Amino acid sequence: MDCRIVTIPGDGIGPEIVREACKVLDKVAQVYGHFFHYKEVLMGGCSIDAFGVPLTEEALETARQSDAVLLGAVGGDVGNSRWYDVAPNLRPEAGLLAIRKGLNLFANIRPAYLYQELANACPLKKEIIGNGFDMVIMRELTGGLYFGERYTKEVDGVLQATDTLTYNETEIRRIAVKAFDIAMKRRKHVISVDKANVLDSSRLWRKVVEEVEKNYPEVKLEHMLVDNCAMQLVMNPGQFDVVLTENMFGDILSDEASMITGSIGMLSSASLNESKFGMYEPSHGSAPDIAGKDLANPIATILSAAMMLRYSFDLDKEADAIETAVQKVLTEGYRTTDILSEGCTKVGTAQMGDLIAERI
Ligand code: NAD
Repeated sequence: MDCRIVTIPGDGIGPEIVREACKVLDKVAQVYGHFFHYKEVLMGGCSIDAFGVPLTEEALETARQSDAVLLGAVGGDVGNSRWYDVAPNLRPEAGLLAIRKGLNLFANIRPAYLYQELANACPLKKEIIGNGFDMVIMRELTGGLYFGERYTKEVDGVLQATDTLTYNETEIRRIAVKAFDIAMKRRKHVISVDKANVLDSSRLWRKVVEEVEKNYPEVKLEHMLVDNCAMQLVMNPGQFDVVLTENMFGDILSDEASMITGSIGMLSSASLNESKFGMYEPSHGSAPDIAGKDLANPIATILSAAMMLRYSFDLDKEADAIETAVQKVLTEGYRTTDILSEGCTKVGTAQMGDLIAERI
């Protein structure tokens, strides 16, 4: 298979971790007979330095012309960087919003998987962790409360603020289809999270999700109220496979789910549009405090590359090979500093990439 991948290393540790992800992808290409053609573009602080803006139209167009985008992270030390002395739309992170909007990435997927080797970092009790958990949160990213009409006005001498939460059938259907498609590649179980006992938008959400379910007879659908879901995530995380939810609920629940895995350097993510196209990136930031020191954990980015193979290129076997290689390296006791525990072997960013690539 021939795939055109745009890489956006970005700032801070971004170039180091993207380099390791490409190293692993190159090994996959060699072993499985694929061709990955990379084109690198600038985004974030490095683009501000080169072009005066966090994302150029040309960089966005290059991304649009590709099959998938692999992103490191953007941004600098917020309290101590020339990039933040400017209007918000000229700061590094504005590049992120612009590319998500420009590529119409409405579906955000964040897996939360507990490696038994890292279970000590999980804040939950052992009896709750049980055999671990392996879920993905599918969050709608471009609608709902964060994009609705909002205003503040004075009513009878008292300030009053209003935010509106709007979803239409089309927006709900396209994210539901993504969730069911992904469930078909997993354990075929969708839990749709809403607040249908109160909100009209949630009642429409439920109705449309049930319509979509009819096209996926193999997938089991359950509904769960968002307040219950917040509790269930810390009481019985093992019950979840695919969690489908709207923008604000997903914002909160995906952070909760990632916290219970315990290690920020391990968390991958994907944002998809209507086609197979997606942007893949670690859930963490650019970690300027450790940039250039060979201390960054590249695993979140490497696992994001595995998601790219699975969701954009349908290369499930190859994605499995990356995930198995990561598992092996952890089982053999290799750790970057952020996940280091007693009795393990400390390795740097580049060596972690080498070890994973060797095991493909
Ligand atoms: P951060 O995720 O960059 O760092 C938080 C802490 O986790 C730091 O101590 C860091 O050293 C550590 N850390 C993060 N990733 C790691 C890794 N792979 N290996 C080892 N340790 C890791 O969050 P922050 O400090 O709040 O933000 C730093 C910059 O990143 C800011 O400019 C922020 O705006 C930006 N940011 C970018 C993105 C993105 O590009 N998607 C996301 C979040 C934050």
